[in-house]
Amino acid sequence: MQLLRPIIRSIRPKGPNLNSAVPQPADLIHALPDPALVVDAQGIVSLANEQAAEMLESDPVGRHLSASLRVPAVLEAMKEATAGEGGASVDYDVRVPVPRSFRAHVSCLGPGKGALIVLRDLTREQQIERMRADFVANASHELRTPLAALSGFLETIQGAAKADQKAQERFLGLMKSQAERMRRLIDDLLSLSRIEMNEHVRPSGEVDLTQVAAHVRDVLSGMARDFGCELKLDGDGPLTVAGSRDELVQVLQNLAENALKYGSSGKLVEIIVRRSGDWAEVSVRDHGPGIAEQHIPRLTERFYRVNVQDSRSRGGTGLGLAIVKHIVNRHRGRLVITSELGKGSTFTMKLPVKG
Ligand code: ADP
Repeated sequence: MQLLRPIIRSIRPKGPNLNSAVPQPADLIHALPDPALVVDAQGIVSLANEQAAEMLESDPVGRHLSASLRVPAVLEAMKEATAGEGGASVDYDVRVPVPRSFRAHVSCLGPGKGALIVLRDLTREQQIERMRADFVANASHELRTPLAALSGFLETIQGAAKADQKAQERFLGLMKSQAERMRRLIDDLLSLSRIEMNEHVRPSGEVDLTQVAAHVRDVLSGMARDFGCELKLDGDGPLTVAGSRDELVQVLQNLAENALKYGSSGKLVEIIVRRSGDWAEVSVRDHGPGIAEQHIPRLTERFYRVNVQDSRSRGGTGLGLAIVKHIVNRHRGRLVITSELGKGSTFTMKLPVKG
């Protein structure tokens, strides 16, 4: 004890200035990233950070908590906590001004000392969880449909068409196309998951977009011929970006295939490569039927299709533009879609120019 005394004295703050170096409860509340409030033993708010004032749309300090947070379950938990009965977590929803979900953590600060209430916005987390569940349900449904068709054809071949070779051949052809559809879907799902996993890592290679566009034009020249459509490249000279060549080929090929699949009635699909300030832009323009305005913001959602039957009959999986969006994000770029009904659509990928 004798030895300790001088040491204790030397670390004890001296005078008011040194005292301010010790964090006060208000400092702690303001440093919290989530909305947080302290109430006294009567439920009057004594401290609140900016996030709490913003969320409750008024400064709650000096008033009873019930004046700004009208959630009976939270008020009940606060009553128990201020009475010294421990803490609780309460989930609740608000409807106005926009629907949101919260979790309130209510903790007792000690007998007669009130309670700390920390609020967490769960809206985004719940949205992601719902999207994940929807995605699994959609992917299973998309796979189950061709699988059910395959089983049906098999039963017919084993039963009604057992002795009919011509019918069997026809059914085998149909089975092949269903198996192809399943393969395309699995390829796209794997592609999407691989790209999503790497989305935060920016690709490091150097790619000439004009050369990528020329490659895609050559690869799709046969498809364009089959659709009776001209596929034209407009752009000269190298335009270099930081990127993964394979992924940028995948983007342009997806966009050009879509333009041919859905817009070949316009007889011309153009791939235009140009520089606009610090951006390298590649546009794929068709002169087909166009896309109604309300669909445009949703086109890059997984499995979103303007017309599901039409997409399926053209071998679509509904994942092409979702893959495109993730690749463009990974390249720190933007995808801009413009369209006019009866005139056609333009899909533009904008990437930062290298150097
Ligand atoms: P899909 O495999 O169905 O083609 P995508 O994700 O590539 O899936 O495209 C989503 C939907 O966007 C398509 O089903 C189609 O309805 C629409 N779409 C895409 N490109 C075009 C285009 N150039 N013209 C008209 N509609 C298009």
